[in-house]
Amino acid sequence: STKEKTPQICVVGSGPAGFYTAQHLLKRVEALCSQPKVLNSPALSGEGEDLEASQPLGPTSCHPVPQQHPQAHVDIYEKQPVPFGLVRFGVAPDHPEVKNVINTFTQTAHSGRCAFWGNVEVGRDVTVPELREAYHAVVLSYGAEDHRALEIPGEELPGVCSARAFVGWYNGLPENQELEPDLSCDTAVILGQGNVALDVARILLTPPEHLERTDITKAALGVLRQSRVKTVWLVGRRGPLQVAFTIKELREMIQLPGARPILDPADFLGLQDKIKEVPRPRKRLTELLLRTATEKPGPEEAARQASASRAWGLRFFRSPQQVLPSPDGRRAAGVRLAVTRLEGVHEATRAVPTGDMEDLPCGLVLSSIGYKSRPVDPSVPFDSKLGVIPNVEGRVLDVPGLYCSGWVKRGPTGVIATTMTDSFLTGQMLLQDLKAGLLPSGPRPGYAAIQALLSSRGVRPVSFSDWEKLDAEEVARGQGTGKPREKLVDPQEMLRLLGH
Ligand code: FAD
Repeated sequence: STKEKTPQICVVGSGPAGFYTAQHLLKRVEALCSQPKVLNSPALSGEGEDLEASQPLGPTSCHPVPQQHPQAHVDIYEKQPVPFGLVRFGVAPDHPEVKNVINTFTQTAHSGRCAFWGNVEVGRDVTVPELREAYHAVVLSYGAEDHRALEIPGEELPGVCSARAFVGWYNGLPENQELEPDLSCDTAVILGQGNVALDVARILLTPPEHLERTDITKAALGVLRQSRVKTVWLVGRRGPLQVAFTIKELREMIQLPGARPILDPADFLGLQDKIKEVPRPRKRLTELLLRTATEKPGPEEAARQASASRAWGLRFFRSPQQVLPSPDGRRAAGVRLAVTRLEGVHEATRAVPTGDMEDLPCGLVLSSIGYKSRPVDPSVPFDSKLGVIPNVEGRVLDVPGLYCSGWVKRGPTGVIATTMTDSFLTGQMLLQDLKAGLLPSGPRPGYAAIQALLSSRGVRPVSFSDWEKLDAEEVARGQGTGKPREKLVDPQEMLRLLGH
């Protein structure tokens, strides 16, 4: 029967990598089966296309084209009771337009050949070997859930936390709801100069009334309303030419209501000549920094800056050495920074200490030097130095039938669009292997086998229609206060609402 021939594929993780991989697998297998119709479809032309448009094509529409592959079925397993990974728990609440990708993911989940199973942690509730037994292929798309540690003395002091935890806290990630950051200090220091660092700085400095109509959690908004933080420093080991943030995020900071930038013109000496050689996006970014640091603002901007009660600054050529304790030793009270200078050129530019030190007083230290993937299962190879699953174009090394996509494949850098491209590529490799007969032949039980295992272990998965009930509940809770949603932050409450 068709069901017996259906390739059963499983994806672990429901962030952009998981959903884009699933989208590619469903679309491509379908396209192979129904070329004449699909070629005529104006809808099929890249990101955001309407998957449902090709839905009515059931298995019978494969005729008269010879049947190369029966249609694949894709199950997506997710450890949270809710889908979408960092689109829900990472992307800043004041960037709602970025979250529109959720509409595309929802279309994928609505495909009759795709199922979402939340509340299932792979590696704990079910193992990777069990999944490989039940499916023809398994794609690991579980992201990067850890943060890179600073590895300096004082890191464990109260008042120090990872940007990752801070972001999780304001975005409603269940495990970070107890964070309770103390914002009673005047100055916060963020170690790192990437987009996540800028997101965190912006959330700390945005007037809270501007966040009221976002999906930031009620608890976080309450704490931010009481915040006394006036100044945020973003510290980087290298210089203005090496910052890791992008121009859109920088522009937003420069225009942030009620806040002014602090940049030291001395950091920009000689840069005018150097930027001639750099690629265009970097050039435009550096020019904006340079103008902000060195040009006198016009009267309107000068007045805006003069009336600003908050400030943010980029501290270049500084490498953190120690988090300094308060006199009673109970809290963080500053960061000791080694002054650096650059050696080498282009990609190889390194920061080396000059021997000078500087202490930067602050009451809050947020480390934003990167996310890190964890190994998921002892049976899966893992490169702990690079923090990725070793792979060639998404095929996990030495493990046939096992694939990876997204941050766990490439490392924790790149925006959603980058993750989309790389997930499509993994999907393509899997389909090539399927076509070449490299995946196990014969039927596989897919979810039926896993469901039995989960049920014997007392795990109750959350389906996509369950998520849609939670989604409706969140939207309803937000309505009273003009928010797009009030996120549910307690998994127990979510399961209770679903009657689990
Ligand atoms: P994730 O999105 O992390 O998804 C991984 C999923 O796997 C998660 O849902 C996780 O719960 C699940 N999972 C983990 N372990 C298991 C397990 N054992 N079993 C089952 N499931 C598991 N990009 C933009 O384009 N615009 C932005 O504005 C933007 N803002 C960002 C802000 C922050 C703070 C961060 C960190 C990133 C941001 N990005 C942004 C980048 C973007 O979020 C990533 O490119 C993308 O989310 C990576 O996708 P992924 O699927 O690999 O990982």
